[in-house]
Amino acid sequence: MTADKNSSLPTLIIPAGTCGQASGANDLIRITKRELLNKKLTEKIKLRITGCHGFCEMEPSILIEPWGVYYPKVDPKKMVDMVEAVAKGEVLKDLLFKDPTTGNPIERQTDIPFFKKQVRTLLSRNEKVDPIRIYNYIENNGYLAMAKTLSSSHPRRVIEEVKASGLRGRGGAGFPTGLKWERLANQTNGNGKFIVCNADEGDPGAYMDRSLLEGNPHSIIEGMIIGAYGTGATKGIIYVRNEYPLAIKHLLIALRQANQLGLLGENILGTGFSFDIKMVRGAGAFVCGEETALIKSIEGKMGEPRQRPPFPVEKGIYGQPTLINNVETWANIPIIMGFGAEEFAKVGTEQSTGTKIFSLVGRIKNTGLVEVPMGISIEEIVNQIGGGPIHQMKIKAVQTGGPSGGCIPAEMFHLPVDYESLTKAGSIMGSGGMIVMDEHTCMVDLAKYFTKFLKEESCGKCFICRKGTQRMYEILDDISAGRGTLEHLSLLEELGPIIKYASLCGLGQTSPNPVLSTLRYFREEYIEHIEKKRCPAGVCKDLITYTINENCTGCGLCLKSCSAEAIRGEKKERHVIDPKRCIKCGACQSVCKFNAVETR
Ligand code: SF4
Ligand code: SF4
Ligand code: SF4
Repeated sequence: MTADKNSSLPTLIIPAGTCGQASGANDLIRITKRELLNKKLTEKIKLRITGCHGFCEMEPSILIEPWGVYYPKVDPKKMVDMVEAVAKGEVLKDLLFKDPTTGNPIERQTDIPFFKKQVRTLLSRNEKVDPIRIYNYIENNGYLAMAKTLSSSHPRRVIEEVKASGLRGRGGAGFPTGLKWERLANQTNGNGKFIVCNADEGDPGAYMDRSLLEGNPHSIIEGMIIGAYGTGATKGIIYVRNEYPLAIKHLLIALRQANQLGLLGENILGTGFSFDIKMVRGAGAFVCGEETALIKSIEGKMGEPRQRPPFPVEKGIYGQPTLINNVETWANIPIIMGFGAEEFAKVGTEQSTGTKIFSLVGRIKNTGLVEVPMGISIEEIVNQIGGGPIHQMKIKAVQTGGPSGGCIPAEMFHLPVDYESLTKAGSIMGSGGMIVMDEHTCMVDLAKYFTKFLKEESCGKCFICRKGTQRMYEILDDISAGRGTLEHLSLLEELGPIIKYASLCGLGQTSPNPVLSTLRYFREEYIEHIEKKRCPAGVCKDLITYTINENCTGCGLCLKSCSAEAIRGEKKERHVIDPKRCIKCGACQSVCKFNAVETR
């Protein structure tokens, strides 16, 4: 039913996730289809439209299989040549990825440094399937692990296998998944039990879950069916944020197809096991990623956390036992059941098995989604996969774990990426955000940015989180504006642990992390803001002045870009900024091609 008679044909693979589409992938698809039809090549070349492959910065890109040839940032005007080259079995050398150090072209995707160090267990599957074609997933052994599990494994064996794999929740604190499943399996409830896929990805800059939902929705559905069978759940919910339209579209198609093929619903594949999944859209509140708030939101109430116990696994949606795992956790389940726990646990460390997807962003050369084995060092991720700093700038730190995480300074980049090491360093794994910062990043400003985010996202239920995050923000604002005192630092250090201790939910409990970790590792930057009224990174507007140095050629570009009319100067002569008029917008600095605009 699913065998592809053309599987050996060359295939043009075009990633068209949100990042790909935003970069022009739809134009490449349109031209490719036209060329294949016009040149009567449909029997000779295949086209596969997929989700994101991870190297988002190089979109729109094309991968040619089975050769593994990778073309970055493809110009639609080159598509005609490319289709022709594929038909002849040729490679267009000029369009290949160039090694940033040597400038030499690299032909195969797997030889590109960004991909080389990764272990792409989940993301490589995004390349193999068109997310809206269930048969494509089945051709690639999709639903095989589920079919085998339902027909030959006892539910308790499923839980034992997940426990043996060592898989830990990929959404936050890293609770052992098998143990969580066992607790749900031990619950008895005549009204049924729920399992939930938490796809309420709220960290700024993080999009691991979106990419899996867009690129391989059936893997999540398959993981949930196996989870339901193991735990005895009868109802499944995927809670996804409404800001993910493409993920929602692909999920709805995938759910419909799975239902049509009898993979969901009553008596799945004739095994007597019944389970169904529905999708619920979240309104985008960060706090709804917290389990008890998420449950309330699913019930149609205001998304506000509640005291535990009772834990969701005892009393969750409509009072019924409920288990919640995030997208990446569910996507790992078919791999564990398909290849076995032992094989899965070969990757990673003893305490943190398997791989983890990070969204690697910030001040580095290669940004995108990276999937790495647990235990890899931060240095390897930042410098080898990420390609190191931009313009020879010195990398200062990485922020892991999103707004609730913390900063890890460059001196500690030897640390392995696992749950324990990151927590010990004052940060968390979180769901996988990784922001790289260099000398142009002000740590006070960074702490202020995340604290502002958290104060706005605090649901306000408990006083200490509501007022504590507000007060921390006000202090940081004072410091960044030159109104700070050394007493403010003591106050932050006093307030942080109290907020951690007295807040009801994870949002409040982790909210001081950005402040406390930057204070721990970058205290001298705070002191410089306070004592010298100076922002060494040149970011805090109230503490900087814009000047033009001797590099100025008098080209006049900055003068044209300045809306405040603060720049004077004759053509071909050094220009000058009037500090009284300057509103510190930075426009002149971004247009100057001669590095002549400085901040002090
Ligand atoms: S800690 Fe903050 S976000 Fe959590 S319940 Fe309390 S006020 Fe709401
Ligand atoms: S853009 Fe740069 S080089 Fe040109 S006038 Fe302004 S400061 Fe001088
Ligand atoms: S920072 Fe903005 S306002 Fe100031 S001189 Fe440059 S362009 Fe003008």
